[in-house]
Amino acid sequence: MTLINENFLKLSESYLFTEIARKVNAYKEENPKADIISLGIGDVTQPLAPAVIEALHKAVNEMATAASFRGYGPERGYDFLRDAIVENDFRAHGIDIVADEVFVGDGAKSDTGNFQELLGKDVVIALTDPVYPVYMDANRMAGRTALVKLPCTAENDFVPELPGEHVDVVYLCYPNNPTGTTLTRGQLAQWVDYALEQDAIILYDAAYEAYIQRRDVPHSIYEIPGARECAVEFRSYSKTAGFTGIRCGYTVVPKDLKLPLGALWSRRQATKFNGASYLSQRAAEAVYTAEGRAQVRATVAYYMENARLMRERLTSMGFKVYGGIDAPYLWMQTPAGMTSWECFDWMLRSAHVVCTPGVGFGCCGEGYVRLTAFGTRENTERALRQMANQL
Ligand code: PLP
Repeated sequence: MTLINENFLKLSESYLFTEIARKVNAYKEENPKADIISLGIGDVTQPLAPAVIEALHKAVNEMATAASFRGYGPERGYDFLRDAIVENDFRAHGIDIVADEVFVGDGAKSDTGNFQELLGKDVVIALTDPVYPVYMDANRMAGRTALVKLPCTAENDFVPELPGEHVDVVYLCYPNNPTGTTLTRGQLAQWVDYALEQDAIILYDAAYEAYIQRRDVPHSIYEIPGARECAVEFRSYSKTAGFTGIRCGYTVVPKDLKLPLGALWSRRQATKFNGASYLSQRAAEAVYTAEGRAQVRATVAYYMENARLMRERLTSMGFKVYGGIDAPYLWMQTPAGMTSWECFDWMLRSAHVVCTPGVGFGCCGEGYVRLTAFGTRENTERALRQMANQL
């Protein structure tokens, strides 16, 4: 008799970032004076917006008296936040989404990881390669091993081609982690048309929507006609507003989907999830105030200036870089035919800069490393100088 879920044994042994940390720590031990700068992990560095801090203080004070104390909240999130989401993220952009279709959660990692529980064990699932590892590992934990890979390479401009075969579910993430690339409205429309034709579901991760600069890049899949019938969208305040430590996000499950996924997600969440905290939901609500919006936009602009500097300087050093225009990630081709891990070691040892090996996101990531623009300006500039000094 097997007492454990053997699917877990089939996962790769070490999480990518654990391996990176191990290598960096070993190098630090050998070279205690090395000034190591991380452009690796995708966590933010700037503090929360003042409007968010104010909302948090106010919410904490409410918890201090019996009259305004809040315990368990509504399973799908408080109306004040769901209404603000619908109004600001959708209706203001002419998109038809109602509050009943919005499920507030504790972030896009949980929701993108958990949503597959609603799917049959044998559904055919397609994923881009490279990919945010959560989609793949969550499906592997559930015993789905035959995943269809959609290569995203320089040759296809990192735009996945439509599958030559039928698939039931496709995960798309745009702006993309790890490549930092995007789909235009026309390119996303091809995916929506494919899903409608094939009766497939698109699980669309828009965690980096706030970083979009160009007008022909859609912020939501629901900008595309027909998407209400075939797409679920995941959003997060983590990168939009620095909530990686606060935890809040939401998932949109439209009522027009052919499968009753809204009812199933509601049932799943009611059973296994007790809601994002009142504090984090009040904090998220503050992102939509006039001050909140302006402050959050300024922080996004700060990171995007890092991205611009990185693109400009790395290009002038002779590196080939992709992304970083509508996303806080740059996807850099390794120099001189190095593998991703060779480039990681070279950058660590020579420039004392930590990157993320692209191969950790899938086979098609081999020959690339991911750099993030989430550092402080000072560290980003220092890292670029240290790299330039090595060439
Ligand atoms: N989706 C993508 C593509 C991400 O890159 C990340 C975080 O790095 C997440 C989701 C997780 O976001 P959250 O902090 O909301 O769980």
